[in-house]
Amino acid sequence: MSAAASIDLRSDTVTQPTPAMRQAMAEAEVGDDVYGEDPTVRALEEECAELLGHEAALFMPSGCMGNQVAIHLHTRAGDEVIVEASGHSYDYELSGMAALSGVQPRAVIGDRGLLRVEDLRPHLAERPYYRSAVGLVIVENTHNMAGGRLVPEEDLRAVLQLCTDSRVPVHLDGARLFNAAVASGDSPAALAFGFDTVMVSLSKGLCAPAGSLLVGGSEPMREARRVRKLFGGGMRQVGVLAAAGRVALATMIDRLAEDHANARRLAAGLLQCSTLELAFGHVDTNIVVVDIAKTGLSAAAFCTGMRQRGVLCLATGPTTVRFVTHHDINDTDIDVAVKSAGSLLAG
Ligand SMILES: *Cc1c(COP(=O)(O)O)cnc(C)c1O
Repeated sequence: MSAAASIDLRSDTVTQPTPAMRQAMAEAEVGDDVYGEDPTVRALEEECAELLGHEAALFMPSGCMGNQVAIHLHTRAGDEVIVEASGHSYDYELSGMAALSGVQPRAVIGDRGLLRVEDLRPHLAERPYYRSAVGLVIVENTHNMAGGRLVPEEDLRAVLQLCTDSRVPVHLDGARLFNAAVASGDSPAALAFGFDTVMVSLSKGLCAPAGSLLVGGSEPMREARRVRKLFGGGMRQVGVLAAAGRVALATMIDRLAEDHANARRLAAGLLQCSTLELAFGHVDTNIVVVDIAKTGLSAAAFCTGMRQRGVLCLATGPTTVRFVTHHDINDTDIDVAVKSAGSLLAG
């Protein structure tokens, strides 16, 4: 890492694989996974399906592919997919669902990222034939662009019940589902319960170098294997990556609590600057989004000033800046980040 910018709070995707992961990767037993012959991939898929309480799981090269395969699985061309307006699958995966599945997203503005049942209900009402059919609803937990927000259990259940009553499948974008589990005290299986498919990332807070898993029923996952291949995601001796993923699931979930504590510490420190505000009111997990409008700086200028002080953060809007805590950030780094913001805003 360069000395000029050594504290990287842009994202938890920057995490390095741990020594235990590198060792597991070196020793992994592998085979051709397109033929279903990689024992390490199979073990990872079984362990993940079990952890999330679903029948089957499929290893994916990325979270985006997991989401896009799920969308393809549940919809027909011409369908509508209901997403929250700042959702990852809508805003940060190009126009993947249009390009790959021929479906039209309907972006519903939630309450700071939270798709409420009242917002959803009108869209799930019976429609005449000349309107598009709703093929899928997507829920994101935690919600990335809403500051790592945790979806409250009662909202999750209400949305799932409405979708069940309307016979519309629901996909959970759970790139950070394990953060949600640690923060809420609910098990990952409890949070994944009731969804038709769930995507979880290994390469964010869990530190694996790459990969995500799509979980769901055995039958849909057989079809997902076909769609993954269609999208170019069939991989061969990929047990070398799955080995890191197994270490991630077995050893890296509980420690996410440290990242959450660091995020709260960072938020408390940043709020000592009177011109900084939390963009979403509170910090639930490992993401802190600050509104810097009152500083008079643009988000881009703020990030440049921080970079000059050795701290990397990300402009997510004209006046919003995101900081993400993770395994490779300790409490001293947090103190440096807070001091840097103080010196930038004092100067
Ligand atoms: C990062 C992320 C993804 C995509 O994961 P990649 O592995 O980067 O493709 C999907 N959904 C959410 C909420 C994310 O934060």
